[in-house]
Amino acid sequence: MNERETEQVYRDRWRWDKTARATHCVDCYPGNCPYHVFVKDGVIVGTEQSGTLPVVEHGVPDLNPMGCQKGAAWHLSLNARERVLHPLKRAGERGEGRWQEVSWEQALTEIADHLLDAIEEVGPESIIHEGTPAEGGLLGGMPFSRVASLLGAIRTDVNAVINDNSPGTYLTYGKFDPVISVDDSFHAELLIYAHTNPAYTMIPSAHIATEARYNGTEVVLIAPDCSPSHVHMDYFVPVRPATDAALALGMAQVIVSEGLHNVDFVREQTDLALLVRADNGCFLRESDLAEGGRDDQFYVSDARTRAPAKAPRETLSLGDIEPYLEGAYSVRLRDDTTVEVSPAFELMRQRLESYTPDKASAMCGVHPDVIRMLARKAASRRTTIIIGMTANKYYHGDLMLRSYLLVLALTGNWGKQGTGSSVWSVAGFDGPFMYGMKQSDGMEETLRLVQMMDAMTAMIKSQDPTMTDEMSRVELMSRAATMGGGAGIPPAFLWYYHWGYREDWNRPEWNDPGMKRPFDDYVRESVDRGWWQGVAHPGADFPPRVYLEVGGNAVRRTRGGLTRLLNYLWPQLKCIISVDWRMSATGMFSDYVLPAAHHFEKVTFPFPNPWTMHLTMGDRIVEPAGDSRPETEIALLLTQKVQERARARNILTSRDASGTVRKLDDFAEQYTSGGKVFTDDETIAREWVADSATAGNLPAGTTLDTLRERGHIRFTGWGKGPTGYSQSSDISPNETHNPFRWHTENKIPYPTLTRRAQFYIDHPWFIEADEHLPRHKDDPPQGGDHPFVLTSGHNRWSIHSMNITDQLLSQTHRGLPNVVINDGDAGRLGISDGDEVEVSNDIGSFTAAAKISPSVQPGQVISYNGWEPYQYRTWNTASDLEPGMVKWLHFAGGYGHLKYRPLQWQPVPFDRGVRVRLKKAATDAPKDS
Ligand code: SF4
Repeated sequence: MNERETEQVYRDRWRWDKTARATHCVDCYPGNCPYHVFVKDGVIVGTEQSGTLPVVEHGVPDLNPMGCQKGAAWHLSLNARERVLHPLKRAGERGEGRWQEVSWEQALTEIADHLLDAIEEVGPESIIHEGTPAEGGLLGGMPFSRVASLLGAIRTDVNAVINDNSPGTYLTYGKFDPVISVDDSFHAELLIYAHTNPAYTMIPSAHIATEARYNGTEVVLIAPDCSPSHVHMDYFVPVRPATDAALALGMAQVIVSEGLHNVDFVREQTDLALLVRADNGCFLRESDLAEGGRDDQFYVSDARTRAPAKAPRETLSLGDIEPYLEGAYSVRLRDDTTVEVSPAFELMRQRLESYTPDKASAMCGVHPDVIRMLARKAASRRTTIIIGMTANKYYHGDLMLRSYLLVLALTGNWGKQGTGSSVWSVAGFDGPFMYGMKQSDGMEETLRLVQMMDAMTAMIKSQDPTMTDEMSRVELMSRAATMGGGAGIPPAFLWYYHWGYREDWNRPEWNDPGMKRPFDDYVRESVDRGWWQGVAHPGADFPPRVYLEVGGNAVRRTRGGLTRLLNYLWPQLKCIISVDWRMSATGMFSDYVLPAAHHFEKVTFPFPNPWTMHLTMGDRIVEPAGDSRPETEIALLLTQKVQERARARNILTSRDASGTVRKLDDFAEQYTSGGKVFTDDETIAREWVADSATAGNLPAGTTLDTLRERGHIRFTGWGKGPTGYSQSSDISPNETHNPFRWHTENKIPYPTLTRRAQFYIDHPWFIEADEHLPRHKDDPPQGGDHPFVLTSGHNRWSIHSMNITDQLLSQTHRGLPNVVINDGDAGRLGISDGDEVEVSNDIGSFTAAAKISPSVQPGQVISYNGWEPYQYRTWNTASDLEPGMVKWLHFAGGYGHLKYRPLQWQPVPFDRGVRVRLKKAATDAPKDS
């Protein structure tokens, strides 16, 4: 073939007869990258970043071109080897890999019978629907959530399951999910990345840091390992693993001791001016001073009157009050005794004396001068700290977050462009939120719901007129969750009673010494006091029988891995169902695998969020391959089959542990409200978009056709959903988004106990643990007292398990799982690059190829996640070494904002910082591929 002919071959490859707009409906947060899709003869021949996002704010770069290498390869997975095209039923032992193709009729009939068997034997609580980001987008997971809800099944809260919660952020703000838009970082003068590796994990948005540098922003990376992101930074600050709290508190000490703190911001926005009693460590409350006084009325010491003054509850504005931040004062209580009180700031200042730069340096390994430099920069500049999810996955991640947020508080760095911190959020698209409550289709029903929600929040506010709109919605969600109307339950009790974690959680040596009693005592107390009333399910008497996962991968993700699942949960289960477009590791260990349509074969949506501020969609560009079907269709068929089998078996109702009776003989009619909702993906998507326009998320009159034509639409408002309220800032059409401006500009209180950003938690458990104020604590030796610390993070270029089996993408790695080991450690242990090594601890072991690099610290081992267990020699992975510890303090409740609502306050297992040992494996070393 000559040169011209070769060119023609390439041109022919890039001929198409149809184009469409789409994105990838997976949890590659923030995702939502708009793409063009090219189709020829009904086959997708290629995709391309559309590069069509608009400039939002004059002088700030647009987000284009959003995309990544996975996005470029997604269409290849339509024909992947692991694609499942027909319903499969296990033909051998679980995990043996022997399957028989069955009809949808047979698969759904048998599954429906298993569901009814479980209801008859134990009750509906024995059916577990695992909360996952559902790699089929919003329309992948929601139909099954509705099925589970109507059955009375357990739906586990996705934020606990994937442990992307941020308890430190929640403790501080009463919400875990403030998010700044990607382009807002351009306004930062100091941009700090901590616990993140943006070059790997923020591929579509990492360019903003480079652009910001051209704008004069100084960019800092704080990380234990010298990750590839460091070359894009002005400063790389290597910190010892899990010691960020010491570093941040060292910065705070410099800021306070040098008088660099923003006094007005601290007084107004935080609880640090509130008075704390010396005798019991609790805030001074109105109930301390007067009979019948409020427990949630707090006090400051007013410099003008030299007397305690009530901290306003209805506003953050202090009016004429000038609170002292330091000193000690006497206060007479209602029983005529006198106690000494001090502002929380004073106690904080005293605590910070343990974190002078020299002392902090000894803990975190960062030079004292670097700590001083970072502190002075943060105090004098608009500062953003992007704190990656890794921080939340450490045992004391909450202390790290609280300490970083303290630095931002002391320097007045949130609630204005170019400042703040970010976690994650799904917001800006109320359609799905409202649709789950609709009893009919159409706008009339939407307006009825909007009015109903407004009436309910008004009713809640009438009980306390000082409540903000945000607080009333938080309260509404919390009450709904306890009545079974939320989006799930905290899975901590499922794990505790049925998943095999209880024994490890009780090991004192794997917990912090601040846990003074056995773990069991704290769980018992939390239940006895009713702190988790309505959501502490399932109890010990309700063993699981059916496990349903839609687009997730529990076998890869579960802390404790195969060992935990196969030894504890799996033997109790009589039916395991995986709904997925591919054969995941979880599918391999399931009894049924139901083939879902790929996200180019159905209408669905990725998770809309404030990072990108745009709604995008996936579309039915080609027809579902083989016998695969959209999840909407599978769920509908399942409800019809449950109804049919319930009638045939004369199981007409079910009753759960709370006594709630559910009808089963008209189950399909309930699911669709008589054929009006949850019918097919196109119809549901039309309603979601129209409803979101009505709620104010999208421009008035926006339809699914508008979205199809443009590919993306920027949010116009946060609507009615509680996650939108968490952002607490108006959306401006020509400004980047920065949360919390309602708090800083409009002085609207935070949804915390004290109604201010709260750094002092006077819950008795926190006082007992000496965590009432932020502090550093050493990571407990989870997994045993071994010499190496295992850390993790997203795989190189953030390739997830559903992509890593793609041949093209695995070629961008070495083609097999590896662990990164410091070159000095490797030399000492006689390990060469490419050798197979065994990583083990008291829980388990796995083997992987050694990747030798001076980029990791001595004593550190990195096992990036994303590999499928079946890519490892024994199918055991780093997860098999994780005890899945949770912090006992996260069972605390009965205290202001420490109460459950979906996605928010709850115990979540940790996986970082596990202790391991390392040696060259006895097996032959695998070669790089
Ligand atoms: Fe697609 Fe996600 Fe990659 Fe964006 S980041 S291109 S949405 S896979």
